[in-house]
Amino acid sequence: MDNPDLYRFCPRCGGPLERRLLKPTEPERPVCARCGFIYYIDPKIAVGTIIATNAGGLILVRRAIEPGYGKWVFPGGYVDRGESLATAAVREAREECGLDIRLDALVNIYSYAGRAPVIVVYAATAVGGTLAIDEESLESAVFTRDALPWDDLAFRSTHEGLRDYLDGLRHPVHDVKG
Ligand SMILES: [Zn+2]
Repeated sequence: MDNPDLYRFCPRCGGPLERRLLKPTEPERPVCARCGFIYYIDPKIAVGTIIATNAGGLILVRRAIEPGYGKWVFPGGYVDRGESLATAAVREAREECGLDIRLDALVNIYSYAGRAPVIVVYAATAVGGTLAIDEESLESAVFTRDALPWDDLAFRSTHEGLRDYLDGLRHPVHDVKG
């Protein structure tokens, strides 16, 4: 997913892509040898929500898919093109753990060299629904803050997001309604 060499054909005309250095300050780009189409491999935007229950527990789900199979993560997923971050966050929480949430604040944004995803993590509160799972999860559970499964978290952003959340990092968001 992170390797541009995986793309071999032009999405516009089907011609062969070849790597070309277009600007000395930028990485080589796949360019169509037939029509000249430049295939910009963009980052992938993901949202995650750290959801607090009324009793103060935090919701995590255990992944049933790779990467991170069997590991815990807070609900989240990729943002569709044209979808607002807030709408995606609410949608993913509903899909992955069955809960309706209110977004309270932005915790932080995480990106890593050589990795495609940029992960936007919100602090949220459960306001309805029933804890459940979908086909991407093995189970969902409420953890107390002092019993989080730190050694079994799926991603670096999961670890750093939870750490920042527990440290109280919060950024106000102008409009979290979507
Ligand atoms: Zn082409």
